[in-house]
Amino acid sequence: DKKHKVTVVGSGNWGSTIAKIVAENTKAHPELFETDVQMWVYEEEVTYDDKPQKLTNVINTHHENVKYLPGVPLPTNLIANPSLEDAVQNASILIFNLPHQFINKVCSQLKGKIVPFARGISCIKGVHVADDGVSLFSEWIGDGLNIYCGALSGANVASEIAAEKLSETTIAYDPPPMDNSRNPSRTATPRSSSPHPGTSGAELSITPLADMQHKDARGRVSKTKLVPVPQEYPPLDHETFKTLFQRPYFLVSMVSDVAGTSLGGALKNIVALGAGFVVGKGWGNNAKAAVMRVGLLEMIKFGKEFFGEAVSVSTFTEESAGVADLITSCDGGRNFNGARMCVERGVPVAEIEKTELNGQKLQGTSTAAEVNSFLKQRGLDEQYPLFTAVFDIIEGRKTVDDIPAILAKAQS
Ligand code: NAD
Ligand code: 13P
Repeated sequence: DKKHKVTVVGSGNWGSTIAKIVAENTKAHPELFETDVQMWVYEEEVTYDDKPQKLTNVINTHHENVKYLPGVPLPTNLIANPSLEDAVQNASILIFNLPHQFINKVCSQLKGKIVPFARGISCIKGVHVADDGVSLFSEWIGDGLNIYCGALSGANVASEIAAEKLSETTIAYDPPPMDNSRNPSRTATPRSSSPHPGTSGAELSITPLADMQHKDARGRVSKTKLVPVPQEYPPLDHETFKTLFQRPYFLVSMVSDVAGTSLGGALKNIVALGAGFVVGKGWGNNAKAAVMRVGLLEMIKFGKEFFGEAVSVSTFTEESAGVADLITSCDGGRNFNGARMCVERGVPVAEIEKTELNGQKLQGTSTAAEVNSFLKQRGLDEQYPLFTAVFDIIEGRKTVDDIPAILAKAQS
């Protein structure tokens, strides 16, 4: 029987941490996965041993991502690869973990290059906004690459997890019915002698495309015609994904609410900026808690208003991807700290990103702009006063001193 090959697309602070986790698990579960995990690295030069070297060479030789996750030993079965095409070759599990501003380019490079029956997990915290609406990155990746893609999000400050400190996470995966072979109602797939392109050429089972209807993250029948995971492979269902991601220090809760899980991770970054602004001003923990309370309400309102019944309020209030992520992000996240420093030093957030983050990216600033543009186009920005104020402060149209009036209006 065949095993799943896993590729992590991205190698930043969180990308390298997740790659470490899955490489530990592929090694522990050779019955399900190929041991070696590929990690696509956006190549750059770093100084190591006092000389300029390629980051991929340093990772593969010293098993440490010295730029984005310094001081953390990486498993030797994690292979850094500067070629995107080569890294995804034959991979049936693709984990997308890179700052959201780069995903469009990466997806367009991947079109036609991946195994057709691959399944994805997006660890990206952000939303995709276009003229016709807002979509999740799991939807964007899934539709763009013609695969099913779920989402991983949670209270997951990467540096703590990389140090193997205890954490929970949420994985939302609503598997297409034909992937769920542990479900006795799954019917055997007819066999075909034609090999799939992009695999090593082995003969694999194929189910006619017409049978491949599945629900998208909003509960609608998806237009994407999926290719089923061949019977020769272990099923790609909740059990397999839990085995791939769970570690003694990284506890996974599997859910089906892809929209709520993704929105929690994206929208909390706007709130974390707001929390950083008031703490930077010296207003303390009570002010921060007020911003978090109002922020959480706006997150839930946004989910219900634009994703409807597909979103469960309980994902925001009960899952790691909801309120727990909001708490940790407003305590020790980069968006929170960046916003706090920008007020303390009187400089723009973008300046802090440049001087303090050594190439890591803040997601909250672009998410605030994208969500604002989406709301404004629909004349709804005033109904999300905290999201709007955070964007206006970033743009210099408002100051932190405007926040108390906004919070006062949010009182019932
Ligand atoms: P990061 O902030 O460390 O960003 C740096 C990465 O961006 C590097 O891998 C770099 O090579 C890459 N990059 C730079 N320019 C690029 C380009 N032009 N094209 C492609 N890649 C380029 O990234 P991260 O922390 O791994 O974050 C990835 C996602 O995970 C984000 O959406 C983030 O919100 C989310 N996340 C991060 C954390 C965390 O604590 N770091 C925790 C949970 C979720
Ligand atoms: P930052 O990107 O603000 O560091 O948030 C990390 C995170 O998402 C924690 O769950």
